[in-house]
Amino acid sequence: MRITALAGGVGGARFLRGLLHHARQSYPLGSDHDQLDLTVIGNTGDDITLFGLRVCPDIDTLLYTLGGGIHEGQGWGRADESHHLAAELAALGAEPQWFTLGDKDFATHVYRSQLLGRGMPLSAVVERLSARWGLAELGVTLLPMTDTPVETHVVVEEQGEQRAIHFQEWWVRHRAELPADRFVVAGLDRATAAPGVLDAIRGADVVILPPSNPVVSIGIILGVPGVRDALRGTRAPVIGVSPLVGGRPVRGHADVCLRTIGVEETSAGVAGLYADFLDGWLVDEDDPIEGRPGLEVVRRPLLMSSVEAAADMAGAALELGLRLRAERAPA
Ligand code: GDP
Ligand code: CA
Repeated sequence: MRITALAGGVGGARFLRGLLHHARQSYPLGSDHDQLDLTVIGNTGDDITLFGLRVCPDIDTLLYTLGGGIHEGQGWGRADESHHLAAELAALGAEPQWFTLGDKDFATHVYRSQLLGRGMPLSAVVERLSARWGLAELGVTLLPMTDTPVETHVVVEEQGEQRAIHFQEWWVRHRAELPADRFVVAGLDRATAAPGVLDAIRGADVVILPPSNPVVSIGIILGVPGVRDALRGTRAPVIGVSPLVGGRPVRGHADVCLRTIGVEETSAGVAGLYADFLDGWLVDEDDPIEGRPGLEVVRRPLLMSSVEAAADMAGAALELGLRLRAERAPA
């Protein structure tokens, strides 16, 4: 069973870990069931160069979460982490000091930067990092959305003046509190999808959009030339999972992002962003959205309070996708 997912960081990674958990329970190795073959297309718009090192926050959150090395409480960074390097950099007065990087995490960025510096494309670097985290053994292929360096910037307004800052500075340093006028993704229009990305969408049995941020995670991946067309053209049902529970994002500032692009902060508003390719929409139990011809709405508890809860959600998304696929298949 070939499943392709588009993912940001924490929300995407937790959901996909749930999907793997669900698959292990439902399709154990050695059973007759088709094994899960999961391709994850990760957002690289959050990528930033810090202390001369290339940092890919969403890709790393996916690697650490699926590979079992994530700091559970934070949702990002490594478990059992120390911060000697950051402390010494701070003592030196090195900037910036608003982005937390632990020692083990630093090793990822040093290694990645070394390989990129030798001219290796990011997708090949991610393949190396995936081997470190045993993703192939889990049936997972992780692809960056593009090998072209892209960066999401936010045009903010301060004292009547507009200036663009890196997305991470707005998100982490300013907690999305600086009034944002718009998002600008440097390099995106000239980017090409990384090897395997478009084929993974076209050749999937089911495509899943986890509850990642619809604007600055999924929305950026959709902006890579060719991705949106592949989603419109694929024979696979495309199933989305709403990031809103009780009408609000669970963590992060997706509501601020939606407001910034002028979209209603509801699951209907988010579904509207995917309207040209979305077939199934998993929403929270009390969500008022109605289905329509061509969009099947299913209600489920959508809080990922544990791996099991995330597995139930992912199972529901997969089940919906497989049902729509069976209904579509010629008799
Ligand atoms: P980021 O890149 O680390 O910000 O992570 P993502 O973009 O992958 O996911 C962020 C989104 O995940 C936010 O908009 C949250 O609303 C959503 N999210 C986080 N936890 C949950 C959860 O338990 N349930 C649902 N439905 N959404 C969640
Ligand atoms: Ca992110």
